[in-house]
Amino acid sequence: MSRPSPALRPAPIRLIDSHAHLQAGAFAWDLAGVIADAREAGVERILVPGWDAGSSAAAVSLAGEWEMDAAVGAHPHDAALVTDADWAAIVELARASVVVAIGETGLDYDRLHSPRKAQLANLRRHLRLALDTGKPAILHCRSAAGKRDAQDALIAELRSAGFGGAAARDAFGDRPPAVLHSFSGPVDYATAALEMGISIAFGGLVFRQSEEASAEVARLVPAELLLIETDSPYLAPPGVPRHKPARGARAGAAGTLAASGAVGASAAPTEAATPATDITARFRGRRNSPEWVRITAEWLAKQRGESPDTIGAGLVAAYDATFRRRSTV
Ligand SMILES: [Zn+2]
Repeated sequence: MSRPSPALRPAPIRLIDSHAHLQAGAFAWDLAGVIADAREAGVERILVPGWDAGSSAAAVSLAGEWEMDAAVGAHPHDAALVTDADWAAIVELARASVVVAIGETGLDYDRLHSPRKAQLANLRRHLRLALDTGKPAILHCRSAAGKRDAQDALIAELRSAGFGGAAARDAFGDRPPAVLHSFSGPVDYATAALEMGISIAFGGLVFRQSEEASAEVARLVPAELLLIETDSPYLAPPGVPRHKPARGARAGAAGTLAASGAVGASAAPTEAATPATDITARFRGRRNSPEWVRITAEWLAKQRGESPDTIGAGLVAAYDATFRRRSTV
């Protein structure tokens, strides 16, 4: 992507991105530039979650290399594909010091790439791993349009696993035991999660039709439980420019990482595998990346009647209170 000169860029505000799949093939050729752009926009923290065993290992490598944080786990789309060896690898990775959370996992009853039974079994073992490690669970939750069955099932699973009760207090102390990533759902689902002390993260979904409840939820989340994210390379908010792919492999650390296998030729979580060189094929020219978290931050500030600067400082504090930070982007 051609980078605008600093004079044309808006003044940075303090930001975080609590969910960016920077190990995805979409970033294989220009990761160094993506991270530099994020820093220039003011992003101080980036959390890279895995979606299966391979992408979790890549998240751990990347976080170590670039002073970011990682999460390890298996996405509900992949729930039926996780082998015993995959799960053993995820449990082992969960002990790494750069791993600050377990996920992403959760329930997706919209697309149902894995049967519900497999998704529930996958979710339950992640919740146990979160309790065992004291690292909060990062939860994806989507129902088909007009439905809320996944959200209702998720709240029931959290309660029966002991979230909001003594088990979670023992494991997490004052910290949130989980994060509702890329929030989607009705207001009372949000309040049920907040009563368990769970954080809520807003991303590009808030700009979609049928997600109108998010504006009301954005106003009621206490600052200490409020997070923001991109879900890069997905969910580009309005205003993200079309991505111009680099001509050929761009030299630099990202290319080196890809060549060494640290990034891996990981397929992105919800899309078919595409060669890493073909960045635009999957994103139709609108690849999300951490610098664009600013667009959602401005939306969030407007909903809450705060200035972007004030909200940014609060988001950094909430990130540090939710995840046990060890490094800075
Ligand atoms: Zn994700």
